[in-house]
Amino acid sequence: MRVKSLEISGFKSFAKKSTFEFGADISAIVGPNGSGKSNVAEALRFVLGEQSLKSMRGKRTEDLIFNGSKSAERQNRAKVTINFDNRDRTFPVDFDEVSIAREIHRDASSEYFLNGSSVRLKDVIELLASVHIGASGHHIISQGEADRILNSSAKDRRAMIEDALGLKIYHWKILESEKKLLKTEENMRQSESLRREIAPHIKFLKKQVEKVEQARTLRDELGAMYGDYLKREETYIKHTREKLHGEKETLERELHVANEALAHADSLRGVQTKESAEVAELVRVRAETGAVRRERDDLGRKIGRLEGMIEYEERRMNAPVEQHEKVVSAEEAENLAQNLYDELGYAEGSEDYLYIKGVVSAMRGKVGKFLEHIRGEQGAQGPSEAALKALDDLRNEHKTLLGSQQNLEDLIMGFEKKMRELEAMLEQKRTETTDAERASFEFRAKKQEITLRLGMVREHIENFARDEVAFREELREGGILVGRSILDYVNMAIEEEQALAEPRAEQESRRKKIERTKIRLEDIMGGGSGEDIMKEYEEAVERDAFLARELEDLKTSAESLRDLMRGLEDELGAQFKDGIKKINKQFGEFFALMFGGGTASLEVAIEKKKKKSDTDIERMLEGGEAMEAQEEEQEEGIEVAVSLPHKKIRGLQMLSGGERALTSIALIFAVSQVNPPPFLVLDETDAALDEANSKKYGDMVATLAKYSQLIVITHNRETMSRAGIIYGVTMGSDAISKLLSIKFEEAEALAK
Ligand code: ATP
Repeated sequence: MRVKSLEISGFKSFAKKSTFEFGADISAIVGPNGSGKSNVAEALRFVLGEQSLKSMRGKRTEDLIFNGSKSAERQNRAKVTINFDNRDRTFPVDFDEVSIAREIHRDASSEYFLNGSSVRLKDVIELLASVHIGASGHHIISQGEADRILNSSAKDRRAMIEDALGLKIYHWKILESEKKLLKTEENMRQSESLRREIAPHIKFLKKQVEKVEQARTLRDELGAMYGDYLKREETYIKHTREKLHGEKETLERELHVANEALAHADSLRGVQTKESAEVAELVRVRAETGAVRRERDDLGRKIGRLEGMIEYEERRMNAPVEQHEKVVSAEEAENLAQNLYDELGYAEGSEDYLYIKGVVSAMRGKVGKFLEHIRGEQGAQGPSEAALKALDDLRNEHKTLLGSQQNLEDLIMGFEKKMRELEAMLEQKRTETTDAERASFEFRAKKQEITLRLGMVREHIENFARDEVAFREELREGGILVGRSILDYVNMAIEEEQALAEPRAEQESRRKKIERTKIRLEDIMGGGSGEDIMKEYEEAVERDAFLARELEDLKTSAESLRDLMRGLEDELGAQFKDGIKKINKQFGEFFALMFGGGTASLEVAIEKKKKKSDTDIERMLEGGEAMEAQEEEQEEGIEVAVSLPHKKIRGLQMLSGGERALTSIALIFAVSQVNPPPFLVLDETDAALDEANSKKYGDMVATLAKYSQLIVITHNRETMSRAGIIYGVTMGSDAISKLLSIKFEEAEALAK
């Protein structure tokens, strides 16, 4: 890779487009003072992306644009283009030629082009970095800057050397890692602070969650208590309901029966209070019996009389007897009289109209018959036909009467039987009346007792209804606290008998325990379900875990960044040491060549610097005094050790100006040779050299040109003589730099 050409237009004194073709290993630019040579080196810096105006001797962007002269208009833009030959593909792009251009305007806007396409500065820097070229790099040694490396501090010197050795990339990578580390540490702090922030919340939530868990346990306990209680209560209620209603029904039935029995007993009692039909019947039958008995007795007497009459007739028939008058036996008359007397006597003692009537009617009949008997009887004369007939009649009548008597006897017997029956019946009724009264009394008492018991049962039922209501209420309340699982109580295995056998007080104490648990539960939960808290807690814990993981990840990546940095530093250190070694070899050689002996070397010096610890800084930030710095930061710098031949000179400060320039050149060349840049611009680096040293310088330039393309700005004849191409820069009255390709001889003249 080579710099093929450089086009400058509007940049500083190059008002018009000027093109340098750098076809040789060494190109020299010569010209009088102030003609614009250094502007060429600056144009190179500029096009390679230099951002420091100072290093281009400007204060403002405008200073880089041709400012005009008496005879020339000022320009509004400056543009520099550098063309590289990339046939060897040093640039990792697939072009034979790579051109980079930069254009600026008076408004300070800046544009970059890569092969004509607009690109960003970053793209340019990256592309150049890939070939070890940087804007402020070591490969452009500005006028008077050669001994900058000697004038710098050990630390800066080290930076320069590192840059020249191409080790900047390590610093850049370390810096990147450091930035990442800082960012990572910042993130860690953020995560830690977030964790710290949420920690009390988690702690608070944890307590809440513990409460929720406690409440859950309590709820489970409550559920179990409820299960036991409700199952028992249901058994009790079912059983008690059946029992009470059974009792009620039984008592109601009993009451009904007692009522009926009482009504019956009362009705029986009522019958006995009136004159009974049986008594009337008995009186009637008795009267009738008396009448029939008397009739029978009459009939008996009548039969007796008839028998007497039959006897008499039979005797009369047997002895003739004259009968002229009616004969009435005394017995017959007495019988009648006696009969009347008795009957009427009975009637007299009775108040019964019917009975009296009966007696009167019977008496009339008897008197009538007696009259008939007296009147109808004819005196017989011998056993006449009539007499015989009369006897027959008597006998027939006797027979009839006997039949009637028998009938009456039968009738009497019937009456007597009837009377016995009636009397028995009356006797029974009397007994029954007493029984009914007793029964009435008993049933009344029983009714009272049943009514009393029924009242009690009804009261029980009423009280029990309250138990049922309480049961339902308990079930409802329990459902709210325990949830639907409250209904699982039905599956509880509790021996019914055992449940019913235990005293009611046990249930009551269970209920009280449930009540206490309910209160505790409500106390803990305040009525809430705790789901929200659980969720919030889980989320907070999850977030904390996430942060912890993140923190862990960050720690890991911080650690690996530190590892990476350590690795890079180690690598940098190793490469640096190796580079120093190589440089020293070249440095020593170039130095000895320039000075005709002596030694020179770079030495790594450790600078001890006091460093404030982080804790001190924190303390200071908090307003406190920093403690005496305790840590010492070690910094490796580069010292230049020289020893001139024949002179007892140690240390750079003792060198003359020329000696310093020689030493600088030896060092620059050594560094450039160890890590050759693609091209090297040397702006009057040789200015301070005497003729002998100029010769040596020329030799060194020639050596260096083997490794790097050289562009030298010089007044030095010797240097010019080494160049393949020489450009002359002149400036006329128009104050515009002009370019001309010239021969060595012309150059010499031009340079003077
Ligand atoms: P020497 O040999 O003395 O080092 P030189 O050839 O290196 O000189 P330069 O320093 O490159 O000269 O050029 C300086 C010249 O450029 C000055 O004359 C200055 O006026 C001119 N110059 C610088 N900036 C501008 C600008 N913006 N517009 C016009 N001319 C400028």
